[in-house]
Amino acid sequence: MAPISHIKVIIVGAGVGGLTLGILLERANIAYEILEKHPTFNPMGSAICLVPSVQPLFQQLGLLDEIKRLSKPFGEMVFREENMSIMGKYSGRTPLDIKERYGEYCQIISRKDLCTLLAEQVPKSKIKYGKRVLEIRQNVGEVIIQCSDKSTHHADILVGADGPYSAARQHLHNELNQKGLLSKHDSMPMRYQYDCIVGVTDPLDPNDFPALCGDFSEFQTVLSKDSSYSHWYIPLTGNKFSWMVVKYHDKGKKYAEDQIFKQSDWREDVAGLMAYDYRNLKTAYGCNLEYFMERTPRGSMAKVMLEEKYYKAWYGGRIVLAGDACHKVVPVGGQGANQAIHDVITLANQLVTLESNSVPDIEKVFAAYYKDRSPIGKAVVQVSGRIGNIANRKGWLNDLVRKAALRHTPRWLAQLMNDRMSYDRPQAEYLPFVKVGGTLQPKPQKPSAFIPFVNEP
Ligand SMILES: Cc1cc2nc3c(=O)[nH]c(=O)nc-3n(C[C@H](O)[C@H](O)[C@H](O)COP(=O)(O)OP(=O)(O)OC[C@H]3O[C@@H](n4cnc5c(N)ncnc54)[C@H](O)[C@@H]3O)c2cc1C
Repeated sequence: MAPISHIKVIIVGAGVGGLTLGILLERANIAYEILEKHPTFNPMGSAICLVPSVQPLFQQLGLLDEIKRLSKPFGEMVFREENMSIMGKYSGRTPLDIKERYGEYCQIISRKDLCTLLAEQVPKSKIKYGKRVLEIRQNVGEVIIQCSDKSTHHADILVGADGPYSAARQHLHNELNQKGLLSKHDSMPMRYQYDCIVGVTDPLDPNDFPALCGDFSEFQTVLSKDSSYSHWYIPLTGNKFSWMVVKYHDKGKKYAEDQIFKQSDWREDVAGLMAYDYRNLKTAYGCNLEYFMERTPRGSMAKVMLEEKYYKAWYGGRIVLAGDACHKVVPVGGQGANQAIHDVITLANQLVTLESNSVPDIEKVFAAYYKDRSPIGKAVVQVSGRIGNIANRKGWLNDLVRKAALRHTPRWLAQLMNDRMSYDRPQAEYLPFVKVGGTLQPKPQKPSAFIPFVNEP
């Protein structure tokens, strides 16, 4: 058996989850390599909301100050009718002060800035671009990965952090299927009921858009009269806006079949078509959406389907999944990136306890990771789906529910929901813990016996 210090992990996907895991393994002195299908580093997308529960980790890694410099705390989300009258508001400051209770505000950061910061923490030699994972095989001794450029990679453990159409998951589930172990639920394709187009503008003149000057990021969301779409505007640092149009499929959820799958990636080439349809939408700032679109660099506009699915099977043998690969949420709940980060913290904390590279020992740590994370992954998919429905669904009843949810959510209920989301504020158990603020203290964690910095005096 190889000792843990000789174990090699391959992470598929240099997204939020994959890069964070890379940093965690780097600090744990565990050998790893990240395989990313894109030929170069070019993260797309719009805004990510980092909730208080992931910030202790970034503080522990020494990255929180930089994250705060690149982001704005979340102020409030104003929901408007098409005629711009206010339907309701959701506040990140009141009725309960998020920072006072949980130690930090939610921080709004562009996906590009977040991924760039994370990638900078990983030695360049450990991220391999242009490596679309196509085939995976595993046996008692190792896992063998084949990429589109015909390269072959060997590892003891493979972590699939490769997003909603995960190659790692497809392989793992094929294996389970052949053994008759795959549930019917997992064999069904993902469902989706939203198409979406996102972008981040170039810097705009704050004299024209005073919302850019605020210390907090105040969102504006406009819902179409028939609730068939909504459009969102999020002030970022650097005088930029993140914007998003979400189109709701009123015929209910569709299955993401193969044909659609080919268009499912965050693709800039098809974004232009959808953008054209929505260019005349009136924003809350007096201009049309076209103004934002024209000031959005081509490479940072992307179209995507917003699938949702919780998968039951997350691991088998030497392969394990994390993030969107095992629980894909719709982004309205703002949980995708946060849950991917939670997953990889738990996974790293388990990996440092691995006793050998034997499959039973590996599956033991995977099982502990799954036990901790899968109930939350499931709940987050369900809750985000409900929030998406409240934000978008048609009909007078949904209209009523939407308004009631926005105007009359009692303080105790808001606090209960936030408390549940913020109680677990995990840190890497093999690094010195940082003190976490807030009147609600987090779930206790124990330091691990593992000593990672073998070279330290
Ligand atoms: C380009 C892009 C833009 C996004 N924009 C937003 C946004 O604006 N707002 C929001 O809330 N969420 C956005 N998301 C989703 C959000 O990043 C995820 O929900 C969340 O971060 C979960 O992270 P993850 O690590 O599981 O997956 P992701 O962050 O999606 O990362 C998955 C990575 O795996 C790579 N990959 C996929 N298949 C393979 C393969 N076969 N071989 C090798 N690499 C592979 C992908 O290129 C990607 O880099 C975006 C995702 C992507 C990929």
